[in-house]
Amino acid sequence: MTRRNLLFARALVLRCPHCGGRHVLRHWLAMKDACPTCGLSLATGNRAGAYILNLFTSEMLLMVVLATVVVRSWPSPPYDLLQWLAPLLMLIAPLLFYPFSKLVFVAIDLAMHPDAAPDALVHGEVKKPL
Ligand SMILES: [Zn+2]
Repeated sequence: MTRRNLLFARALVLRCPHCGGRHVLRHWLAMKDACPTCGLSLATGNRAGAYILNLFTSEMLLMVVLATVVVRSWPSPPYDLLQWLAPLLMLIAPLLFYPFSKLVFVAIDLAMHPDAAPDALVHGEVKKPL
């Protein structure tokens, strides 16, 4: 597995993309400021990018679910079901994907800056991954 794939794989299982350390979330909707294992700053990075990624993923899920329901039930789609399912999905999906989008964006940041130089410059030395 390449370093880049490893970064994304770690992010998708909610571990620090840099070292694979656990417990990077304070709770589901908040990350710790830094990884408790390697000290990599998790507070910096492109928050707007993480929000856009979260919104894009949520919208894609909504479109897939709606298209699946409409296609499978054609010619009489259950519009009553869709009227409450779509808004419910748009409330739940961003909350569900939030920590993944944040950590994936940290992984994107690390993939773009392999030596974590911006964090090292701003917050001090970053330990090498184990
Ligand atoms: Zn770490």
